[in-house]
Amino acid sequence: MRFQDVIDPMLSAELAGATVLGIDIGSRGGKAVLLHEGHIHTAQVATGVFMQDTANELLEDILMASEIDFAEIDHIVATGYGRIALEFSGIATDVVTEISCHAMGAHFLNAATRTIIDIGGQDSKAIQVDPDTGKVIKFLMNDKCAAGTGRFLEKASALLGFSITEVGPASLRAETVPNVSSQCTVFAESEVISLRARGVPPEDIAAGLHFASARRVRNLVSKVPLEADLVFTGGVSNNVGMKHALETLIGFPITVPKLDMVYAGALGAAIYAQKHHVEAKRALRKAEAQKAYDFEGLSRLLQAAEDHFVASDDAKKVGYLCNYTPLELLNASGAAHLRLFKCGGTEEVSRGEQITKSVFCDFTKSVLGHFATKHPVNEAIDKVFTFYTCDSMRATSQAIDNFYKSSRGFIVPRNADSAASRAFFRQEILAFRDELETLTGREIHDEDLQAQIRLYNRVRALIRQISELRKRDSPALSGRDFLEAVRAFFYLEPEALVPLYEDMHRQLATAASSGTRPLRLMMCGGVVADGDRRILDLVEDDIGARIVVEDHCTGLGPFLHQTREGDDPWAALADAYLDQTPCARQFPLERRIEAALALARDYRVDAVLYTYLKFCPCYGLTKNLFLKRFQEAGIPVLELGSDYSAGDLGQIKTRLEAFVEVLAERAEA
Ligand code: SF4
Ligand code: SF4
Repeated sequence: MRFQDVIDPMLSAELAGATVLGIDIGSRGGKAVLLHEGHIHTAQVATGVFMQDTANELLEDILMASEIDFAEIDHIVATGYGRIALEFSGIATDVVTEISCHAMGAHFLNAATRTIIDIGGQDSKAIQVDPDTGKVIKFLMNDKCAAGTGRFLEKASALLGFSITEVGPASLRAETVPNVSSQCTVFAESEVISLRARGVPPEDIAAGLHFASARRVRNLVSKVPLEADLVFTGGVSNNVGMKHALETLIGFPITVPKLDMVYAGALGAAIYAQKHHVEAKRALRKAEAQKAYDFEGLSRLLQAAEDHFVASDDAKKVGYLCNYTPLELLNASGAAHLRLFKCGGTEEVSRGEQITKSVFCDFTKSVLGHFATKHPVNEAIDKVFTFYTCDSMRATSQAIDNFYKSSRGFIVPRNADSAASRAFFRQEILAFRDELETLTGREIHDEDLQAQIRLYNRVRALIRQISELRKRDSPALSGRDFLEAVRAFFYLEPEALVPLYEDMHRQLATAASSGTRPLRLMMCGGVVADGDRRILDLVEDDIGARIVVEDHCTGLGPFLHQTREGDDPWAALADAYLDQTPCARQFPLERRIEAALALARDYRVDAVLYTYLKFCPCYGLTKNLFLKRFQEAGIPVLELGSDYSAGDLGQIKTRLEAFVEVLAERAEA
């Protein structure tokens, strides 16, 4: 096919130039589009078990059909369900979300496109497109249930004795359309069986199924909003029965471009490949700034500190869980101490689950799992202390005491503003002192605590100064680097931290700027365990954005407060910890949101990632108000609920990529 036979005449000139390949691997079928010297070539195969094999098969087919050489391809963009795994040696290859690719493909086929309905094997999407650029304005996705997807139609057609290619035309022969009320595959199956038992013709039932699916899709698309110049893409777009049902329910016709719309995603990927190729040629990529500080060396130092903690026998050893534990007091006791947040693995989660046997967050399950699997650090501990705000923490502290090590919990009062709360918390801190004195056999005097308060104030100020360097357009440290710097705070004693942070700040402050401003993101929400860097890896390595600030208790959150010096040190400590960036369970919630908004503005972030662990009642339940307030402030937020399994990584990556693409497109507009 020549460009002018298929591509919208307003846009065909934009496709001249490079030889580029778009590959779209869906759950059921793989499609490829090759753009070469004014011609469009296509190929389609069934998706196999291994995505790379499917991609290779597509490549072989399309090269044979087009009679061009692999080496002639300048750039490849992969999209769809299988894009994560694809590799093509020797050719620049990157990935773009199927949402953006479908939008771009539909735009080049019909420049006026404003709305896309994309129905694939596993999900359905409604996409609002900017007709000037082909970029996504808004999208909604149904990937939670099979209703309104190719899978639903395929399963339902099999019950009627139709193949997936027969069921659409068959539905158009229906004389009446019975109401299929259920859109769930399981319930629809029993409805189909009962309709058949009542003698309803299969064609009529097929029409009922199409309308049931189309209703689901119509509800989705009406929220984006629904506008004319609507295009239908994806694996189901060839189904005439679905097109008819959608047009009937929506009330206006679906535009039919000249290319088979199952190729829309692959065409969009090829167009992105061309854009990326042109950008890569034009841009003189500035050399990546030399790593300004040896963070790998820091990781080795922390491992050595952990090994020393395990091996040494010159002090009592304390483990603690939560950021509300007053380290000034812990250090004044002379005990060796470590924060127990080495979480992020699935094995520990499942071992912890054997204890909790209920719905806990993966962080607390993982803490228990480390005791169950006899991690050397946990084995070495003499006592665990937990200042807790949430019930999961309280129950975890009790379970540790019941099954593994002596453990004592202390209550953090929820209402930080009341004088009674402060007096109560001061008493809890004094009780903590008593416990420490009993454990170590050493009295802790006011002067000891005051000296530690001064020392920790110095440490916190240094961490703030290091973080301030991230306000630069092109920060010399990544979000992951910063979390490693913070990890040191929970592993090393303050006497060692002062020279370490001074040196770190000096080296980072004098580092040369790379000159490029990355997309600046803030990470908000719950604890990010030592060992859980999945979202940071996706954001910073795969997507190229940068986390420049966080409000969580394992990022900048614990370092925004100073403790009063020279006063009653017990009251000063109680006030300082209650006044720190609050955990989600603390009152008033507004204070946490205001603090996060102030950080977002101060660090000039482009958007926020709100991350929390599934089954966390604190961050999960308070997220709505947080999202609303950020929305009102005009700061985009992507909410990401996850656990420590790898199962949801693909979906998180797709959502992140789509979010970042929408942000980039907004910035360009
Ligand atoms: S999220 Fe809250 S409860 Fe959990 S460790 Fe952090 S401060 Fe403690
Ligand atoms: S606040 Fe949430 S993530 Fe943190 S320990 Fe409690 S339940 Fe788990």
